Amino acid sequence: MSLTPQEVWTRLLERVRHDLPAEAYESWLAPAAPVSYSGETLSVSVPDQFAAEWNERNYTDLLQGYGPVALGNAVRVVFQADPERAGRPQMDFFSPTAPAGSTAALPQRTSFVARREGGEATFQPLSPRYTFGEFVVGQSNELAAAAALAVSQQPGHAYNPLFIYGGTGLGKTHLMQAIGHTVLERLPEARVVYVGIEQFTNEFIQAVQNKGMTAFKRRYRELDVLLVDDVQFLKGKESTQEEFFHTFNTLYEAGRQIVLTSDRPPSEIPRLEARLVSRFQSGMVADVGQPDYEHRLAILHQKARRDHLEQTFPDDVLQLIAERVVSNVRELEGCIIKLLAYASLKHRDITVAVALEGLRDRLTGDSAAGGGAGTLSIPAVQRLVASEWQVTPEALMSKSRLKAYTVPRQVAMYLVRSLMGTPLMQIGEAFGGRDHSTVIHSLERVEAQVRLDSDFAARVQRVENRLLQQ
Ligand code: ADP
Ligand code: MG
Repeated sequence: MSLTPQEVWTRLLERVRHDLPAEAYESWLAPAAPVSYSGETLSVSVPDQFAAEWNERNYTDLLQGYGPVALGNAVRVVFQADPERAGRPQMDFFSPTAPAGSTAALPQRTSFVARREGGEATFQPLSPRYTFGEFVVGQSNELAAAAALAVSQQPGHAYNPLFIYGGTGLGKTHLMQAIGHTVLERLPEARVVYVGIEQFTNEFIQAVQNKGMTAFKRRYRELDVLLVDDVQFLKGKESTQEEFFHTFNTLYEAGRQIVLTSDRPPSEIPRLEARLVSRFQSGMVADVGQPDYEHRLAILHQKARRDHLEQTFPDDVLQLIAERVVSNVRELEGCIIKLLAYASLKHRDITVAVALEGLRDRLTGDSAAGGGAGTLSIPAVQRLVASEWQVTPEALMSKSRLKAYTVPRQVAMYLVRSLMGTPLMQIGEAFGGRDHSTVIHSLERVEAQVRLDSDFAARVQRVENRLLQQ
């Protein structure tokens, strides 16, 4: 099945649009148009050279990273300027302009869009992925998840406001949007708005300058559910705080649901008016924390399942990531994407060795204890490989070209390289002073053999696992 350039582009956009601020997406990617797709290279035309360079610098890696998940293969994205298409919309934060057709194929649930006022900025759509169904509950987030679910069942009645706080990448936006989805499923006519506090602030300033306060008030006060993300950015913005206070009160008094998120609890947001702090605390305040190992693993399994990657990501690889990536969930997702891209560029299956190599910069504790790979060293690899093939470690360093020796020697080089990333020269030295082309040849032999011979592959894997578990 071959995809058209438009299909390829649409699939990539579906992914990246949720990683980018709406303004950036609308200004830079939405106006681009796919031209051709062949040999895994997608050419995309943009209105001018500046846009081509900007996109290349800022978005190429992101787009390419999604190739394996979105398309099932690596993809190269090339931007080219097309003078015919001059007239790129300016980077205008207030009127995101999507040219007709360019985003039409994207699945969107644009809750309630204030289209009544011509030219008014649209609200950011909810991400189709941020549902309760895709949210994995664990100890670190069960209170927040339960509160969010309750709110979604009875907006305006259960907890009002619901204030969710916690570190970055821990699921605040996800939970908040899940409320929006569920409310809309149950009450399709509900007016649900999701907005980042920065967008609220920008629109407010714009409204003041353009005498558009009446429209602004209607936009934010005639709602059933208002989801406001990242309210910590209200700090120090006095007039916005004032306006937000009135917005809050109007909605609250009318029994409308308000949900807020922040990176810290209300009382710890600096330069936030006391009356807002007390409003924010008046309903339910729930935190999301860092997931523990079991929870991280469950999240990874869920992500793999969702993207139909269960076969691609063996359990031991997911375990490795869960063990060594502890900071937040966004990082866990990032590892899946990065590893897919890495393995597909290298034309290799995803194994623990490939993961250690491809995720070197993301895995913590690589040389310290706790990661399992703590005692890895060239002699350790040589010893284990030698014992598996029943030769002496010295034989691996000898000049002998007997097959009984060359095979384990090559395997040992391969494991040193893939598990430790040791430079080729250094590997050559450690194996009896061989030059680097011999090392390359050895690595290629093993890679080829692993692909051809499953018994051999299993044997290499066994040694690898033992090395990693030492
Ligand atoms: P925050 O708003 O707290 O910075 P996000 O809600 O944007 O974090 O979450 C970051 C990413 O991690 C999102 O892709 C989200 O879907 C995912 N995520 C976070 N927590 C969970 C979870 N418990 N289960 C599944 N995915 C999660
Ligand atoms: Mg967020």
